[in-house]
Amino acid sequence: MHKPELLIPAGNLEKLRTALLYGADAVYIGAAGLSLRGASAEMTIDDIADGVAEAHRRSVRVYAALNTFARDADLQYAAAIVPDLAAAGIDAAIVSDPGMLRLIRGLAPNLELHLSTQANTMNVEAVRFWREQGVQRIILARELSLREVRQLAAAVPEVELEMFVHGAMCVSYSGRCYLSASLNRRSANQGDCSQPCRWEYRLYEKTRPADPLILEEDEKFSYLLSSKDLCLMEHLPEIVATGVAALKIEGRMKSSYYVAVVTRAYRQALDALAQNPENYYCATGWLKELQSVSHRGYTTGFAFCEEKINETSPAVKYIQSHEPAGIVLEYDARQKQVLIEARNHLQADEEVELLLPGEDIVMDTAILSARSGEHIKEVHSGNLFYLPLDKDVPPGALLRKKGIPPL
Ligand code: SF4
Repeated sequence: MHKPELLIPAGNLEKLRTALLYGADAVYIGAAGLSLRGASAEMTIDDIADGVAEAHRRSVRVYAALNTFARDADLQYAAAIVPDLAAAGIDAAIVSDPGMLRLIRGLAPNLELHLSTQANTMNVEAVRFWREQGVQRIILARELSLREVRQLAAAVPEVELEMFVHGAMCVSYSGRCYLSASLNRRSANQGDCSQPCRWEYRLYEKTRPADPLILEEDEKFSYLLSSKDLCLMEHLPEIVATGVAALKIEGRMKSSYYVAVVTRAYRQALDALAQNPENYYCATGWLKELQSVSHRGYTTGFAFCEEKINETSPAVKYIQSHEPAGIVLEYDARQKQVLIEARNHLQADEEVELLLPGEDIVMDTAILSARSGEHIKEVHSGNLFYLPLDKDVPPGALLRKKGIPPL
């Protein structure tokens, strides 16, 4: 059975390692200054080289996003770093701007090119056009339905197609939006969106400036422009049947915990589908896992409906059943304990789970130990501490605790 690549966001080296641990087939990273995400989700050339080496040891591919809408100054900067990226061993560059594409073809002719979803590819002729420009893979526009994706894949089997299956969505057309640029001079099209579509808005009638129309639904407020997040977990058989080469998860700005949970859930689902397609069903456990990470409610987006806009709702707010608690630094087999870096405030006796690629372990938190061996009652984010554990676990494994109630 055709098994598409599971492509995971890696905003930094830690998240890249998380993606490798929990089952990514490929990861995508941001090249500093050129990737449509802020600096917090971009990597230096040294980190990229380290990440590529680690990924390739596990036969995982690495794609670097250079998909900003480039001005000439951006191209000059790109010209300086593209040879370094190619030398670091990346497997492909993701581009949206024809100038960037042409530049990379000249500087690194052997580097595979993927066309970003920002290029809004929605029809067969566009796919053929980009193929003629040397593009090996096209990340389809998010506005396509599954029926349209299936038709495209059948019409141009010589081109790899990639589609988003999970993650946050913009209400703007394929993310082309000036809301952030116009409200606070942070351009989404240059990788610096401040997400003002998620802010609180009120409507004023011109002659009644002191009398806003109250749009709130409850004691909090409505996010009028904010889309629900995409989740196609329940439709993997139909998606795989389209013939797309890769399934992409959104979220280079999200936490390592998000990367761990979402990668593991989709990895398990895709493996189960490939192993036994006739008896496959979407396990409730996978859906429950996806509820455990921060999201704004889930929607199937445009997958089954060609004419609608992204689904929004006054009730759309960030929700999550769990929060990150820590990350494993090393296992001490002699003392049967695990060294953890806290990623949250934790108290003794709090319920904490350790996420491994194939199982969850409920941790004994009766005694938290500082590195000195002293017993402590609580730790704060960034503190290092030990918990007892009678099992060797890999560095980079994530811990979580029960989350905050919905806003
Ligand atoms: S402001 Fe909202 S809709 Fe516009 S690009 Fe940013 S996230 Fe997307």
